[in-house]
Amino acid sequence: PIALVWFRNDLRLADNPALRAALEAGYTPLPLYIHAPEEEAPWAPGAASRAWRHHSLAALDADLRRCGSHLRLFHGPSLAILQAVVVATGAEAVFWNRRYEPVVEKRDTGIKQALRTGGLRAESFNGSLLFEPWEIRTRQGGPFKVFTPFWRAAFAQRRIPPAWDPPASLGEVPGGPAGVPLEALGLLPSPRWDSGFWGVWTPGERGAHAALGQFIEGALGDYAEGRDRPDREGTSRLSPHLHFGEIAPWRLAAGILAARASTSAAGADAWLRELGWREFAYHLMHHFPRSTEHNFNPAFDRFAWAHVREEELERWRSGNTGVPIVDAGLRELWATGWMHNRVRMIVGSYLTKHMRTHWLEGARWFWDTLVDADLANNTLGWQWVAGAGADAAPYFRVFNPVTQAARFDPQASYITRWVPELARLPVALRFAPWIDRATSARLAPDYPPYPMVDLASGREAALAAYRQLREPR
Ligand code: FAD
Repeated sequence: PIALVWFRNDLRLADNPALRAALEAGYTPLPLYIHAPEEEAPWAPGAASRAWRHHSLAALDADLRRCGSHLRLFHGPSLAILQAVVVATGAEAVFWNRRYEPVVEKRDTGIKQALRTGGLRAESFNGSLLFEPWEIRTRQGGPFKVFTPFWRAAFAQRRIPPAWDPPASLGEVPGGPAGVPLEALGLLPSPRWDSGFWGVWTPGERGAHAALGQFIEGALGDYAEGRDRPDREGTSRLSPHLHFGEIAPWRLAAGILAARASTSAAGADAWLRELGWREFAYHLMHHFPRSTEHNFNPAFDRFAWAHVREEELERWRSGNTGVPIVDAGLRELWATGWMHNRVRMIVGSYLTKHMRTHWLEGARWFWDTLVDADLANNTLGWQWVAGAGADAAPYFRVFNPVTQAARFDPQASYITRWVPELARLPVALRFAPWIDRATSARLAPDYPPYPMVDLASGREAALAAYRQLREPR
C-alpha cells in the first residue's frame, strides 16, 4: 500500500514523524511537495525564503534518492493535487507534519476533512515543536502571555524523543504523476541577488546537522555572553534550518543537553531558553491568531504613528539612515538574508520609535528579506520591539543605537564590515560620525553627514506620542 508523505516545513528525513508513521504502518511512501503560495496570503513566502526553499528541496530530493526514492514537485491548489495523486497512484493514506500559521492551519483542517470524507486515512503529526501550542496551559487552563512562566511550565513537561533515522531504503512508487522540475516552481529570484548567500549557508538536512556540530564545538561555551555580540560568531545560525524543519528541535535540544556538562551549563541553558522563545512565539500565534496583523495590546490601535514617506522607508531598508549600527544591520540582512538578533532589535527600535513607523512595515521587509522569515518569530520580534506585544519591551524603552553599538560592537568591527565608508574614521566616531562633522566629511565623505531622524528629537517625539496614548480619552 502507498501513502503520500506531504513535505512542507519539515524538509528532512531523520526525526520526521510523518515519514516514520507511514513506514511503521507498512506503507511505501510517495514523498511530494506542493508549491501554493497563494494559499498562505497575506503572508505568502518572501523572496529570500523562497530561495532557501529551492535549495532545501534540492537537498531533500538528493537525500531521498540516496534511499531509492525521490521528491515529486507540484504547483497548484494543495487539495486538488493531493486528490489527483491519490487517484493516479491508488494511495490509501496522506501523512504530514503540522504547520501553525493561522491561515495554513485552517486550510489543513479543511484538507484533512475532505480527504477523510473521501475514505482516505489522513493524519498529521508534530514535526516542528517541542510542545504543541495547546499542551502548555496556565493553572486556570488558558494560554500564557508572559514568557518566563510559560517556559518554566513547558520545560518541566519536556520529553525528548529518541533519535530516529530512516531505513537505508525507502522504496519507490512506480508511475503516477511525475510533477514538475524544481526550476519550474520559480523559487529563485531574478536577477540572482541571492548569490552571496550560499557561501554563508548550506540549506538542507546535512547543513543543519553541520551547523549544530559547529555551534557545539564553537560558540556554545560562551553563548551566555557572546550571543549579544554581532561582531562575533556568537550564535548558532540555526534559525533558517529550524524554520524549514531541516532538523528537529528535539534533536537540537538533545544535542545541547548532552554537551551541557562538557561545555558550559550557562551557555546551554541560555540557548535552550532562546529555543523556548520560539516555542512561546508559536504558542502565542496559535492562541492569538489576530496578532500576526494586529497589535497584541489593543491600546496601540490608537497610537499616533508618524506619516512616513516612502523615501525615508527606502533609506531604512537599504541601510542609508546615517546611523551606523542600523545601516550595518540592514546591509547584513540584504547581503546574507540574516541579521544578528541584537541588531534586529536596534533597527526595529529605530523604525518603530525614532521613525515612529508601524511595526508591520518592518515585519514585511524582514518577511521578504530574511532566509529565516518565520511568521511566529517575526511577529513576536516586531511586536516586542514596538512595545505592542505580549510580554514586550515597554514602549518607553527606546534603544540608543550609539550606546548599543559601543557596548556590543566595541571595536566597531561589525559596523566597519558592513559600512566600509566609515573605515578611515577613528573607532569612537564610527558609532556616531556626526559628532565631529569636519573629520567625518574628510574621512567618510560618502556616508550621510547626520542621521535621517535625529536621535534626541526622534526619541522625544516617540515618547510624547506614547504619553498621549496613555492619557484617558
Ligand atoms: P540563536 O541565538 O542561536 O538561537 C537559537 C534559536 O532560538 C534560533 O534559531 C531561533 O529559532 C530561536 N530564537 C532565538 N531568539 C529568538 C527570539 N527572540 N524569538 C524567537 N525565537 C528565537 N527569528 C526567526 O527565526 N525568524 C524571524 O522571522 C525572526 N524575526 C525577528 C524579528 C525581530 C524584529 C526580532 C527582534 C527578532 C526576530 N527573530 C526571528 C528572532 C531572532 O532574532 C532569531 O531567531 C535569531 O537571530 C536567529 O539566529 P540564531 O539561529 O543564530 O539564534
